[in-house]
Amino acid sequence: MGLEEKLPSGILLTTVEKVINWTRKSSLWPATFGLACCAIEMMTTGAPRYDLARFGMEVFRASPRQADLMIVAGRVSNKMAPVLRQIYDQMPEPRWVLSMGVCASTGGMFNNYAIVQGVDHIVPVDMYLPGCPPRPEMLIDAILKLHAKIMDEPLGPKRAAEKAGHRTELLPSSVAYGPQKEPRPSGSGRSRVVEARKQ
Ligand code: SF4
Repeated sequence: MGLEEKLPSGILLTTVEKVINWTRKSSLWPATFGLACCAIEMMTTGAPRYDLARFGMEVFRASPRQADLMIVAGRVSNKMAPVLRQIYDQMPEPRWVLSMGVCASTGGMFNNYAIVQGVDHIVPVDMYLPGCPPRPEMLIDAILKLHAKIMDEPLGPKRAAEKAGHRTELLPSSVAYGPQKEPRPSGSGRSRVVEARKQ
């Protein structure tokens, strides 16, 4: 029995926004990027026991240009910070960042001059995952929550503004397409006064 027989009249309705977000969340490719002990748990998550491939994510990419998810797994040292930022900058839009573990999120127990006290000082973080280290089940849970967040992401600035509760400025067509005001003469204001004094 096919899906078509279950649908009324074989019609499936959705929005472009939902389809695009569904394709995005179903094919997140993480960058191969581990910083400390948390990275071991991240690697375990991709191994057969936990099988990240179930969510279309088994392809950890060695090039940031082919990745759209950065999992910051471990503490970020000040020396590593510019490298992390460069990798983030090389990832194409849209891209997401998951801060894995207490060290990446806040510096954790490494409250010293060598460790960045939260990776959000360097890159914008979309999802924080607590724990030291977070278990693979916790990482999968955070990834699924990120999927849900991606499904709810607005497309376009107008829709984003609407979701944020901001009113977008709408001009009536009589104003937008009506006769335009004459442009102000060049050299207005103080410069015209200076020119008049010179004469
Ligand atoms: S949160 Fe724990 S496991 Fe993760 S990098 Fe810090 S010390 Fe290591």
